[in-house]
Amino acid sequence: MSISLDVCAVEARTLARVQEPAAVADRIEEQLEPLFTSLSLAWWDLSVEASEEHERRRVERDLALSDLLADPGLFADIESARQAADGQLRRRLDLLRDAFLPQQVPSELRGRIIELEASVDMRFSNHRGQVGGKPVDDNEIKHVLRASDDVVERREAWEASKTVGAVVADDVRALARLRNEAARTVGYRDWFALSVAANEMDEARLLSTLEEADRVTAAPFASWKASLDARLAARFGCAVDDLRPWHYADPFFQDVPVEGGIDLGPYFADRDLVELATRTFDGLGLETRPILERSDLFPRDGKSQHAFCIDIDRAGDVRVLANLVSDQHWMDTMLHELGHGVFNEGFGPELPWLLRDCHLVVTEGIAILMGRLASDGEWLERVAGVDAAEAAALDQALRAARAAELLAFTRWVLVMTNFERSLYGDPEADLDARWWELVQRYQLLTPPEGRRGPDWAAKIHVAVAPVYYHTYLYGQMVASQLGATLRRECGGVVDRKAAGTLLAERIFAPGLSVRWDRLLEQATGELLSAAAFGRDLAG
Ligand SMILES: [Zn+2]
Repeated sequence: MSISLDVCAVEARTLARVQEPAAVADRIEEQLEPLFTSLSLAWWDLSVEASEEHERRRVERDLALSDLLADPGLFADIESARQAADGQLRRRLDLLRDAFLPQQVPSELRGRIIELEASVDMRFSNHRGQVGGKPVDDNEIKHVLRASDDVVERREAWEASKTVGAVVADDVRALARLRNEAARTVGYRDWFALSVAANEMDEARLLSTLEEADRVTAAPFASWKASLDARLAARFGCAVDDLRPWHYADPFFQDVPVEGGIDLGPYFADRDLVELATRTFDGLGLETRPILERSDLFPRDGKSQHAFCIDIDRAGDVRVLANLVSDQHWMDTMLHELGHGVFNEGFGPELPWLLRDCHLVVTEGIAILMGRLASDGEWLERVAGVDAAEAAALDQALRAARAAELLAFTRWVLVMTNFERSLYGDPEADLDARWWELVQRYQLLTPPEGRRGPDWAAKIHVAVAPVYYHTYLYGQMVASQLGATLRRECGGVVDRKAAGTLLAERIFAPGLSVRWDRLLEQATGELLSAAAFGRDLAG
């Protein structure tokens, strides 16, 4: 971006050519570190106070970082240094390669992809479907599908949710072609293959893990859905065979409403969620107070409405942004974000900067493991102070509700991931038909008669967050597998100091020095599989 950075890059190149692999890694790391830190700060500032100045700074720092990662000379240095390196040094150079590789695309092509993504994203933001002749946003559509007993209105809302597909489909196909072109310039079959490889996933293993997730969920999903269908048919006064996608509570049937009336709201109303979260992590011997002191936790005008955890400098400056309201959703979220936080605080201080980081799938696994506590019977009793008999009675119903949620979610991820593999495998194929074939197979939904249209393009992730959905499912599987290890070795999570120690030693401290799948294997005694996840689904 700036002139000084370009000079720096040229200088690094000249030096690296005559230096050892260690010097290459050190040199590039020294350049990356300040760019990452200043980008993280800009991101934080923009999130706590949206302003043009903060947005300008974020874009500027984003560009500075991506310019460095696109530098072909540095990439060549990394490639040649890798050949001569082993052990931890090789690991650092592999990670540098993964960071630089996707950016080694002609800048004209990169520019076209970024522009088209932004344009599609904008159309998603501006598009409104129509119900009863009036424009509606996504929340209103969801509300109709959750609450309305009027099937005509439901059908209209569902169809409204798909109209954006026709608006963006041609450009999403064009994006797939451009992304494939980019992937081929760096030696990959297509964008799917590149995305998976650049995130340290082996495509063959990914496919077999997805097949396993299909196997462990197929029967319980079919039986859960059969009982759901019976209830829906009774509610709408039709035969089960007459149920169509608009009878379900979500436009994509990707999540399910809380059933059985388990409303944990009363347990959290008027509670201090920060205190409950602190108490939870204290029980594991994991300190969260310094993170909380730096955090921005309550709603305010001009602030991001979401929640996230950010590691500013990989040296202890970890912060959480949230918008806490005393309910179950925010309790789960607070425990989730602090799960990320204690992970980032726990990297071995002796590690080089590049390795003081974590793989997305593992940190999501830890965060999900902690977030799940907000609906765990033992936690409700020990931490939230719910009466023991009441908590035990709730526990069974909560497990069933969570299993239903995970089943519906897993089947949906199978649709998305298999669809995206088809999309990048052949962007010219009959994608409209392919989409419904997958929806029918994995979600057991009956397509509306004679429906033709790009319903797949109505899912924003296909356009702007490509080849990402499987990481959500992996996070759930990691959480289940770690949870099983903690039960086996420490008796559980809640108030088990040994559980905190195990996580700190086996998962947090190594950072990225060990590849994520190996790290998990070392920590749990087996490669990641859907086995523990399957057992959690059985309740
Ligand atoms: Zn998360």
